[in-house]
Amino acid sequence: MSREAYQVPTTGTLAPTREAFGAGVGGEGPAINYLCGDCNSKVPLKRGDPIRCKECGHRVLYKERTKRMVQFEAR
Ligand SMILES: [Zn+2]
Repeated sequence: MSREAYQVPTTGTLAPTREAFGAGVGGEGPAINYLCGDCNSKVPLKRGDPIRCKECGHRVLYKERTKRMVQFEAR
């Protein structure tokens, strides 16, 4: 006789690895454009990238709000 042991279904969904967190682009790392606080150049950063300007090395970046190209201080 084999008594059927009631197997508890694995409800261990504790930490689902959710990527694409709040980003419209799913899949690979979505790059978010930041603006350098010093040289005001656009710095695309992905998750995990160090907050640092790639042009001048400044570490204060501002998040670009609008997706449109707002031309202020056009070069
Ligand atoms: Zn810079």
